[in-house]
Amino acid sequence: MRARARVEGTVQGVGFRPYVFKLAGELGLTGWVLNDERGVLLEVEGAEQAVATFLDRLPAEAPPLAAVDSVTTERCPALGETGFEIRASPTGGPPDALVAPDSATCEDCLRELFDPADRRHRYPFINCTNCGPRFTIVRGVPYDRPLTTMAGFEMCARCRAEYEDPADRRFHAQPNACADCGPSVRLIGMDGEADGDANPIAAAAGALVAGAIVAIKGLGGYHLACSAADERAVATLRERKRREDRPLALMAADLDAARSLVELGAGEEELLVGRRCPIVIARRRPGARVAESVAPRTADLGVMLPYTPLHHLLLEVCGAPLVMTSGNLSDEPIAHDDEDAQKRLGAIADLFLVHDRPIHIRTDDSVIRATAGGPLVIRRARGYVPGAIKLPLESARPLLAVGAELKNTFCVAKGRRAWVSHHIGDLENWETLESFRSGIEHFERVFDVRPEVVVHDLHPEYLSTTHALELEGVETLGVQHHHAHFAACLAEHGEQGPAIGVVFDGTGYGEDGTVWGGELLVGGLAHVERVGMLAPVRMPGGERAIREPWRMACVWLEAALGEPVSPLPGIEADRWEQVAALGRSGVASPITTSAGRLFDAAAAILGLRTEVSYEGQAAAELEGAADLGERSSYELEFVGDDPLVLDPRSLLRELVADRDSGTDLALTAARFHNGLAAGIASACARLAEAGGLDTVALSGGVFQNRLLLERTSEQLVGAGLRVLRPVRLPPNDGGISYGQAAIAAASLSTP
Ligand code: ZN
Ligand code: ZN
Ligand code: FE
Repeated sequence: MRARARVEGTVQGVGFRPYVFKLAGELGLTGWVLNDERGVLLEVEGAEQAVATFLDRLPAEAPPLAAVDSVTTERCPALGETGFEIRASPTGGPPDALVAPDSATCEDCLRELFDPADRRHRYPFINCTNCGPRFTIVRGVPYDRPLTTMAGFEMCARCRAEYEDPADRRFHAQPNACADCGPSVRLIGMDGEADGDANPIAAAAGALVAGAIVAIKGLGGYHLACSAADERAVATLRERKRREDRPLALMAADLDAARSLVELGAGEEELLVGRRCPIVIARRRPGARVAESVAPRTADLGVMLPYTPLHHLLLEVCGAPLVMTSGNLSDEPIAHDDEDAQKRLGAIADLFLVHDRPIHIRTDDSVIRATAGGPLVIRRARGYVPGAIKLPLESARPLLAVGAELKNTFCVAKGRRAWVSHHIGDLENWETLESFRSGIEHFERVFDVRPEVVVHDLHPEYLSTTHALELEGVETLGVQHHHAHFAACLAEHGEQGPAIGVVFDGTGYGEDGTVWGGELLVGGLAHVERVGMLAPVRMPGGERAIREPWRMACVWLEAALGEPVSPLPGIEADRWEQVAALGRSGVASPITTSAGRLFDAAAAILGLRTEVSYEGQAAAELEGAADLGERSSYELEFVGDDPLVLDPRSLLRELVADRDSGTDLALTAARFHNGLAAGIASACARLAEAGGLDTVALSGGVFQNRLLLERTSEQLVGAGLRVLRPVRLPPNDGGISYGQAAIAAASLSTP
C-alpha cells in the first residue's frame, strides 16, 4: 500500500523531515518527504498495517517544536521503491509555511553545553532542530539560512556535516553554529572598549555579583540585569530606567532557585520549565531573598528560567537570581538593534554583554499566570509568537486588524488562520508606533497576507485607528472595543456564539461615546447587543482619574452613601471637594461603566493607594491583599431588565462599614472580589434564562485578576453555566486585534 500525506501547520525548521525519515525507517517503509510552500509533503509505501501505524503516529509523535494543524492523506499506486529519502524542496509558489516561535534550549543541547568532552562545551549559541532562535531571526520565508540573521555566518565543515545529515539532531537546523564558525560574545565597558575578553560571560557575572548593571543582548532584545538581592543595584536600575513601581522580572538558575523565590504549584512549574519559558507570576515566598525595590508592595513576583545557552552560563556563574528587565527607558520598546541599544541604554548600564547575531524582530518576554482553569496570558510574545490561532470560520478576504492603543498587538488573517503579533506596547511614542508599522509589514510578508480589509477600534484617537484609516486601497471596518474582547474569547475556543459576554475592562470607547468597561453582552461574532452594564458614574477629570484612584473613590463613595463624604486620608479637603463637584456637575468628567475604575475606587477606599504609576496597579494590590481562602462576600445587586444594571452601591456600603469597624484588609478585599463574582453569576443566570443561553465568555483586562477570574468561573459553573475564558490570548487589550479579526471574518462571510 502507498499513501500520500500533506502536513500543514508549523512543520518547517522544527525537525519534521528527519522525524518522518526515522519513523518510516523504523516501520520499514519506503518513499520520500519534502518541504514545500504549504508545509510537508510525503509518500510512504509498505505493508498495509505499517502504513496505517505510520499515519497514526505521524501527528501524535511530532517533534516538540512542531504544531500540526492538519494531515490529509490519500492512497496512491504502489511504486516498489527501495529506500526512503528526504527530497529537495521544489521552488516557486506562494510561501505559506509557518515560522516557528523561538524555543528555550533543549535538554540535549544543555547536556552538551556543560559536557567538557563536547565540541560545543560552554558555547553560548548552541542550538539544534528542537530548540533555539526562530521567529526573532527570520527575515523572510522560506525559512532557510540565507533569510535569517545567521546568513553572515558560514558553517564550518563539521557544522555543515551535521546540517546535511538526516540522522543528525542538527539536520537543517538553520541557526546551527559552533565556536569556530558562529556568533560570539563580547563584554563592552563604559568606554566602549572590549572588557574581559578571555571570558566575557564570567567577567559579566563577576560585575553583576559586585553590584553592576549590565545590558545583556538576548533572543528578542536587550535585558537590563543586576543582582536581585542587591537593593542598591536594583534601586539604581529603577532610577536610571525611570521606572516607578512596576515589578521587575527575575531570572533564576533552575527550578530549585525559582522555588526559593515564589510558591510554585504544578501549573506554575509546568509553565516555568516548558520550552516557551515565559515570566511566570507567582506568590512571593515569605523571606525570599529579593531586594525591596524589585516589586514594591506586591504579593507576587515574576520569575523565569534561563532560555538561551548564554543565560544558562551566566546564571551558573552568578549563582544567585538576577533582575532581568526589558532593556528600555520607561515606556519605550525593548532595544534590539546594537547601535540603538548602545545609545538608549548607555546611560543605564555599566557594561554591555553583547553578541554578533542580529535580532531581526524585537520580542519581549511573555508573561503568564497559572490559574485553576489553565494558563492566563498577561503578555503574549517570545515563545508563543507567531503561532497561528485558528478562526472559527473562514475569512472570506485577507485582513489586517490593528488592535487597540495600550498593550497593542495587531493580527493578520486569511482563510481560517490568524497570526497575532507579539506584544508591541503602548502606542504612545514614535518608537513604538514605528515598531507597530514595521511589524505589520513583516507579518504581511512572512505570512503572505495582502489585506483587503482593515479592522480598527471605534476610538477615533487611537493611533492604531489613525493608521488604519490612512491606508489606501482597502476597506475599513470599525469594531466596538468590548465586542472585540468578547469575540476574542469566543473565537479562540472555536465558537461564534450566541453566548453571554462579561467584559470587565479598564477603558474602551462605547458606541454612545462614553467610556465603557463593565459590560454584559449577548450575541456572537457577527452581532452583539449590550444588555447590561455596571452602573454609570463620572470619571472626575477624565484621564487623571486613572492615575489618581482616589478620584473614583470620591464619586463612588458619594454615590453609595448618598451624601458628601469626608476626604480619604492624604487628600486635602479642597481638592476632594473640587473633585466631588466635578463628579456632580459632569464638567470634564466623562460617564463611565468601567469595572477597572470600580476596583480603583475600592483600593483607594481601603487605603491601599491614592495614586498609581501604571494602570491596574491598584487592582493588582487589592487582589494581592485578599485572603484567598475566604468565602464570605458582599452583595452586588442588580436592577432592571433592559438594560440590566449591576449596582455596586450596597456592596461599597458594606465595604466601608467593614473598613470603619477595623475589619482586616485581607477579609474586606476577599469579600469585594467574592461579591463581584457572585453578582456577575446571578446576573448571567438571569440573562441565560431570558435568552435561552447556556454559555458565558469572560474577558477584558480586569480578568487578569486571577482571584476574580477563578471565583467568577466557579460561581457561573455553580449556576449551571458553561464558562469560556481566555487561554491562548490575554484577556487584556493584547487580545483585541484577534477579536477584531474574528468579527470581520464573521461579518464578511455572512451574505
Ligand atoms: Zn537543542
Ligand atoms: Zn561550526
Ligand atoms: Fe480593553
